[in-house]
Amino acid sequence: MIEELKKIGLEARENVALRDYTTFKIGGPAKFFVVVNNKANLFKALQAAKKFNLPFFILGGGSNVLIADRGFNGLVIKLQEGEVKFKGNQITVFAGNNWAGFVRKTIEAGFGGLEFGANIPGTVGGAVFGNAGAYGKGAGDFVESAEAIIVDDEVRLKIFDKEECQFAYRESIFKKHKDWIIAELAFKLEKDEKAAEKLVQIQREYSERRAKQPLDFPSAGSSFKNVLYSDELSPFKEWQQYGKIPAARFIEEAGLKGAKIGGAMVSGKHANFVVNAGGASADDVARLIDLVKTKVREKFGVQLEEEVQLIGFRNR
Ligand SMILES: Cc1cc2nc3c(=O)[nH]c(=O)nc-3n(C[C@H](O)[C@H](O)[C@H](O)COP(=O)(O)OP(=O)(O)OC[C@H]3O[C@@H](n4cnc5c(N)ncnc54)[C@H](O)[C@@H]3O)c2cc1C
Repeated sequence: MIEELKKIGLEARENVALRDYTTFKIGGPAKFFVVVNNKANLFKALQAAKKFNLPFFILGGGSNVLIADRGFNGLVIKLQEGEVKFKGNQITVFAGNNWAGFVRKTIEAGFGGLEFGANIPGTVGGAVFGNAGAYGKGAGDFVESAEAIIVDDEVRLKIFDKEECQFAYRESIFKKHKDWIIAELAFKLEKDEKAAEKLVQIQREYSERRAKQPLDFPSAGSSFKNVLYSDELSPFKEWQQYGKIPAARFIEEAGLKGAKIGGAMVSGKHANFVVNAGGASADDVARLIDLVKTKVREKFGVQLEEEVQLIGFRNR
């Protein structure tokens, strides 16, 4: 397989420790691992996976994944920095580009809109996949179209317009079709002379937000999605105006702050962060996630849903 990948011009490696590529610092080995920085090579890597009937997985910045201890028995395709092209107010970018770096580039070019995401880790593709957001805005709000590589009977390119991307809170069509790989994004932004100023404001607010996050421990950010408000949740009426109740609220009220399984811990600082408090295995984290879901369901009848993506686990 390695030889086949090399033959088509891809630098491939075997048995690569994925913990080195995730913000959780957790994850077993990838059987095969390639790094790609453009659409053509991403296409070739997916064609190779299809040809050899290998399971594949796309890794961006690794900031929203929990990879199993046994690793991934297939081809991991790690996306990294590629091209950004400006044409009028349309900006096209390879999915592997660092999201925060891309946001900065758009602001430097005089465009506004993406300031909200200046501190979100990961890649542009990862941000679009999960419609990453902050301050009430999401990456999908600014996407004009996404060019994806569809892997089914054949491997082919397809352009999805914004509607077809089906963006919703931390959702997109790509999250529902793991064989539809985002290769390139076109963003439509407006010129805004105040963009740089707005960025400074966001950075100021972020330093306050940072103080409330357990950034001293490795994590994958928020472990659970916030919970959509419904009438059954009227004891949390103060959140009705926002449409969502923070998952942290339920976790904290279930008395789970500081709860530990092995090296995994529910942060004492922010209850929606399960952190790697030292030597946590993926299994520790997955068991703690299950414990949190069970306790919150028992106490509030609320079914929490993971925001972090679990990769390589059996039965999940
Ligand atoms: C400290 C910290 C703070 C965070 N703050 C925020 C925040 O404020 N708001 C927020 O929304 N999130 C936040 N996150 C979560 C995370 O940064 C985002 O979800 C981010 O967009 C994930 O991007 P990534 O490239 O790291 O994705 P990865 O973790 O590499 O992958 C996540 C999922 O996306 C899939 N994927 C990635 N790229 C592609 C692609 N090109 N095509 C198809 N599938 C793909 C992967 O297969 C995987 O299933 C935070 C995380 C951390 C660690």
